[in-house]
Amino acid sequence: MRKITLSNGKEVEVECLSCALTNGLIEPDGGVVLETEYFHAHQDVAYPIKGLMILASKRHIKCFDELTEEEKIDYIQVLTRIRKAQRDVLGIDYVYYFYNEDTTHHFHTWMVPRYGWMAEFGRSVESLRPALLHARHKMNHHENIDEVMGAIDVLREELTHSQSNG
Ligand SMILES: [Zn+2]
Repeated sequence: MRKITLSNGKEVEVECLSCALTNGLIEPDGGVVLETEYFHAHQDVAYPIKGLMILASKRHIKCFDELTEEEKIDYIQVLTRIRKAQRDVLGIDYVYYFYNEDTTHHFHTWMVPRYGWMAEFGRSVESLRPALLHARHKMNHHENIDEVMGAIDVLREELTHSQSNG
């Protein structure tokens, strides 16, 4: 078991944070944005970047080649639906995707919108961690958090709507 401190300060012990989130044991701040048969999307508000999404598998797997055929199809469909929603309702032009197989949790893909202020940290993969840390330490103020939370609601609404329309 691992002890995890949630952003609200509460401590919980879980085997795997991704399992706890996708099973609904832990409710992410801002709520679940999208859930399908095999995947679950939410924002990690510990990194308050508007439109940032984390797409996790529901099954406890680590590596890309462990996905079943059905999961592969669901994955690319969910990923592109979220990407389209980020563009359509938040005006996000570019997204960085990050996924590491040696995670302490399980299969999850970070979808990190690229904003102008990130340019000072570099142009590619090297900018990711400094940008995330900058958000965590310098953008964790009320005004930005409100924007981030608002974006979660807007994305959820858009994705629910696009789902109901097939
Ligand atoms: Zn897990």
